[in-house]
Amino acid sequence: MLTVTEARERILSHFSANPTENIPLASARNRILAADIFADGDHPPFDNSAVDGFALRAEDTSASSVTLNVVADIPAGTTPKVSLQPGEAARIMTGAQLPHGADSVIMVEDTGAQHHGTGTNAPNTVTLAKQMQAGENIRTSGSDIRAGEMILKQGRTLKAQDLGMLAVLGVAEVPVYQKARVALLSSGDELLDVNEPLQPGKIRDANSYSLAAAIESAGAEVIRLGVAKDTRESVTHLLNKAAEASADLILSSAGVSVGAFDFIKEVIDSNGKMDFWKVNMRPGKPLAFGKYGGIPFIGLPGNPVSAFVGFEIFVRPVLERVNGQMDGSRRTVRVRAEAELHSDGRESYLRAKIRNENGAYFATLTGHQGSGNLLSLVQADALLIIPAGVKCVPAGEEVDAILL
Ligand code: AMP
Ligand code: MG
Repeated sequence: MLTVTEARERILSHFSANPTENIPLASARNRILAADIFADGDHPPFDNSAVDGFALRAEDTSASSVTLNVVADIPAGTTPKVSLQPGEAARIMTGAQLPHGADSVIMVEDTGAQHHGTGTNAPNTVTLAKQMQAGENIRTSGSDIRAGEMILKQGRTLKAQDLGMLAVLGVAEVPVYQKARVALLSSGDELLDVNEPLQPGKIRDANSYSLAAAIESAGAEVIRLGVAKDTRESVTHLLNKAAEASADLILSSAGVSVGAFDFIKEVIDSNGKMDFWKVNMRPGKPLAFGKYGGIPFIGLPGNPVSAFVGFEIFVRPVLERVNGQMDGSRRTVRVRAEAELHSDGRESYLRAKIRNENGAYFATLTGHQGSGNLLSLVQADALLIIPAGVKCVPAGEEVDAILL
């Protein structure tokens, strides 16, 4: 029997990061950055005003009221043509470039109120209600970012705010890893698609939907192959389609145990090689790994919870590696058991609900932990990990939990 870590390491050793491609910035959200990004220059690129108001020389101001001549009007997006002399000011808008000679900007609210409002012309003079310090209300060039500074690291999952930053830096084409592509099939004569009415002896195919969504949530692309019947021909047909699609991974569920109609192992062996492992874990002890037509193959157990847990433990890390992702999409936290937890001694993944009390997490099981019971997984927001060899965790003790 393999430990979970051994099984995962064995699988991972067959994968490496995909080649990279350049894509338009607008479509880069959730893609994985394939190079470090450095600042192209100083940002902001020029000294500018942080407020709507009047640019001036602080030394011209005093505690008592002062009136300055307004010699220019500087909207955002223009370059000022004046250089302020003693006793002079320029009306200026937020984000507009500071004129030469100015060292501060007084907010319009701190001047004669008549200059307020959209569409008003710059006045000839401005009266100040307060004394200014040099540097006040100015964003100096390079105060946010210095030219050459490292801004975003290779392997990062690009978020909305990262796209804004890449725009600031002028990165129109973003280097990213090509997405992992996963050919997905379910197997079993008992499976019906969601839009078919139930029939005697049949159930609906859950895994095609949960696993496809899980693949997408890991930033990979799904090639949906549907359901293989429990015949050699049907299994062969779908695996050949997977090979033709030159996927990075073929992922199946069910049909790999020792049942009389489990043809997957036989078909894979005919055009590659398959190992059948027992992994010291619950749920999901049986795990198949091999290659078909040169493409790595992972066979998850059929029970919907085992398939889901198997995906999280073995497949998500594979997709992270192929996608070049360094910031994993799942977080593990320490949680305290509300009540005693039990295991049979295998590394166990228990479905639980987490609550946060003053910064500490507490976990309660969501109910029946059978490997076919999808409801308790739906109700859970974490998988508690009971380490191998531990049969009982007393109430109040801490365990690791993977947040879902
Ligand atoms: P098997 O490995 O083929 O013996 O399947 C194990 C169990 O998982 C059986 O009860 C199957 O009916 C169930 N099962 C297999 N595939 C699916 C699926 N795609 N959706 C829901 N249940 C499934
Ligand atoms: Mg089956």
